Amino acid sequence: MTDGIDPGARRAILEACDALREDSLRMLERLVRCASTLGREQSALEEMARIYEDMGLEPRRVPVDVDALKGHPGFSPPLMSYEGRDNVVAVHRPRGTKGRSLVLQGHVDVVPEGAEDEWTTPPFEPAIRGGRMYGRGAGDMKAGIISYVTAFRALKEAGLQPAAEVQMQSVIEEECSGNGALACMVAMPKADAVIIPEPGPGLPALYSAEVGVVWAFVTVTGRPAHVRDKQAGVNAIEAAMAIWSRFEAYEREMNRAEHIHASFRGVNHPVNVNLGTIEGGEWNSSVATRARLGLRVGVMMGNTADRVRADIERIVDAARDDGALRGAKVKLEFRGFHADPCVFDMQAPIVRIAMRSYAEVTGNELRQYPATGLTDGRFFQLYQGRPVACFGPDAQEIHGIDESVGIDSIHDITRAIALSIAEWCGVEKAL
Ligand SMILES: [Zn+2]
Repeated sequence: MTDGIDPGARRAILEACDALREDSLRMLERLVRCASTLGREQSALEEMARIYEDMGLEPRRVPVDVDALKGHPGFSPPLMSYEGRDNVVAVHRPRGTKGRSLVLQGHVDVVPEGAEDEWTTPPFEPAIRGGRMYGRGAGDMKAGIISYVTAFRALKEAGLQPAAEVQMQSVIEEECSGNGALACMVAMPKADAVIIPEPGPGLPALYSAEVGVVWAFVTVTGRPAHVRDKQAGVNAIEAAMAIWSRFEAYEREMNRAEHIHASFRGVNHPVNVNLGTIEGGEWNSSVATRARLGLRVGVMMGNTADRVRADIERIVDAARDDGALRGAKVKLEFRGFHADPCVFDMQAPIVRIAMRSYAEVTGNELRQYPATGLTDGRFFQLYQGRPVACFGPDAQEIHGIDESVGIDSIHDITRAIALSIAEWCGVEKAL
């Protein structure tokens, strides 16, 4: 059933993608320069608003309204205030609706750069070496955002536009809660399908499933003492390590074959429990009073975030009774991700169109990717029953040092998305 669009239009769209290639890299550099870590997303959101305006669209701010969202099953407990951090959405409206509507979604937030002195070039100064662009967020997922933007622009350059409503959503907090995506999804009309150009596993792939995630913070308060009376004190750091060892045991248990869902078969160690942050102690010669662990606990398909949260409570409760804690006080808090796992529909027409378009422009197949991390795609799949095609450029070292994205792969994804938009939405002459 290929293409309601004729070969001439396809050719014109692909030529327009080629013509925009260099310009799109300059756009990506500008976006990577915005150091949009948690709470500092504003410059990237403003950059997106400018990009949408330049495309002739009217960007609209969509706040994360905690009171309105907190009853939603996809909502995660906030880490910080949403003041001044509104998402940016732009909507293309066709003259006549012939095709199916579409959401193009991407997150502007990036994870912290880590040890900056380990980077070859500074993380927020994009650099091109050996056909790759380096920078924090270049791969995850600013290149993906620029891909969908460039795809849309390519249609216009070719004298065309989608013949259906297209929403473009630039969201915050994909990396810690997903509340930005949830707020936009709830605020906007339900669309027929979603494309999210998130980076895959380092080879051409499309997300077939993803784990859920729960974040938790464990604060341990010991009893300080001068180290010469060490036995009189209770060391909060040592007590915290005793708690962490219980989570390591839980991780081993959760990765046993009988707990792994069929959609993750063949994936090595799909349920990851990460001790991501630790703060604690006051002085080398004082028994530590307080320590805080920041944990990320994966949720296998078939399990739920609610049940994993209960597991975490149970583990911490059991640790309280553990002699190794020597009466240290333990406080458990849940902030950040409370996300259920999901399986994406690989037979959905948008997925088939994306796969066919990718094969057409590259000669390669997109493999199915059951991901041990998550994306914003879950919201549309779980709470709207909408199909999601989640596939993006070749990114390396995401969340690591010297994160990069392959420049040819950005172009491949751009062209595949452009053809997918044209086929899904249909096209009409641009004004
Ligand atoms: Zn991402």
